[in-house]
Amino acid sequence: MSHATIPGGFRQIQRHDGIFQEQVHDAYKSKAKLPEPTVCPQCGAVYHEGRWQWQQAPANAHQETCPACHRIHDQYPAGFLTMKGEFFSAHRDEIMRLVHNHEKHERAEHPLKRIMAVEEKDGATLVTTTDIHLARGIGEALHHAYQGELQYHYNPEQNLLRVSWTH
Ligand SMILES: [Zn+2]
Repeated sequence: MSHATIPGGFRQIQRHDGIFQEQVHDAYKSKAKLPEPTVCPQCGAVYHEGRWQWQQAPANAHQETCPACHRIHDQYPAGFLTMKGEFFSAHRDEIMRLVHNHEKHERAEHPLKRIMAVEEKDGATLVTTTDIHLARGIGEALHHAYQGELQYHYNPEQNLLRVSWTH
């Protein structure tokens, strides 16, 4: 695989790299501590006990757009998952069901984990996500279900993750 195709700032990391455990700078995380409760006027997620959750917001809740809606508005994904290969092409419908089911499951618990878009690009399918952990989780789920080759490229400056699955 040619590294010329990887944009600047990304470096390859191993699947179990501890990088994901680190606190990294993320421009989409609020710099100031949000008042609680804060409700996102776009999606209705509520910031409570230090994290965004799906719950009913009181009428007097502070309003501020959550990081996921902010990224969707800016069309600025955090995670990029590229899927390609003969196996993928032959089983695309089934695999895309797994991708969407994984997101649905994660999003139910974590409002900031969402798929932003699914695009066809250069014979591959690109799924973009609002959260790097969702892109990684979908990659893990694909590898667990079907094997294939999984690669991660991480950009620590901007906290972006590119996952590529080839099968
Ligand atoms: Zn929101």
